Amino acid sequence: MKFQIRVARKKDMKSLSGEARESFHEERMQMVEQQLRRRGIHDQNVLAAMEKIPRHVFLPVEFIRSAYDDSPVTIGEGQTISQPYMVALMTQCLQVHKGDRVLEIGTGSGYQTAILMEVGAEVYTIERMKPLAEKAEKKLKDLGYDAFHIRIGDGTLGWPEQAPFQGIIVTAAAPEAPETYKEQLSEEGGQLVIPVGSRYSQVLHRITRFQDRFTKEEFTPCVFVPLVGKYGWKEEY
Ligand code: SAM
Repeated sequence: MKFQIRVARKKDMKSLSGEARESFHEERMQMVEQQLRRRGIHDQNVLAAMEKIPRHVFLPVEFIRSAYDDSPVTIGEGQTISQPYMVALMTQCLQVHKGDRVLEIGTGSGYQTAILMEVGAEVYTIERMKPLAEKAEKKLKDLGYDAFHIRIGDGTLGWPEQAPFQGIIVTAAAPEAPETYKEQLSEEGGQLVIPVGSRYSQVLHRITRFQDRFTKEEFTPCVFVPLVGKYGWKEEY
């Protein structure tokens, strides 16, 4: 009897997953209108990407129903997919132009990677957790994306062989902006978008490089999972 109940639940989830690929259109449009446009996201390419990409397919099946909530959602391995507003704001701050080479740190589910490709970037993405990286790569390929390169490892080192990057986006929180990223930014207006602060609260920063000059702007307060690595937080956090 117990066995039958377990099977039935699993079946429910599978059928939800199947239907979900075609549905949630209404929820996605509402998310864009209420969580993004009304809060000041104005970049048309970012809005179009967020309207187009099915966020729910990047989530574990048991959390699909939370995909369009105004909050981060768990993706396994103790990690999260960021709140839709934060994904949109960070992408808007990066000011991507078609063909830009962008380094993303923290592939996670692959959702932000897809958004970056939709707005025209060729993405180099690094994730330290192998199970997440593998799932994200498969998901992105299944969806037909090919303008990305993925690496498993410590993203605080950046990807020096592929530098310089027009944009670097860090989707985990750092105690300060690592020098490695500044060095790997294009000297002609390269931009680094990164949450900087303490372990439990940060502020979104944008650092722009012109030759050896770096200017810093501060955006909204935020809370991200930690950037763990040589130039981030140590493992025990
Ligand atoms: N952008 C992701 C998405 O769209 O699903 C969400 C990223 S999640 C908020 C942060 C990710 O950063 C986690 O998957 C975590 O494993 C990863 N991470 C943390 N430190 C890292 C590091 N040093 N190098 C690469 N990835 C790292």
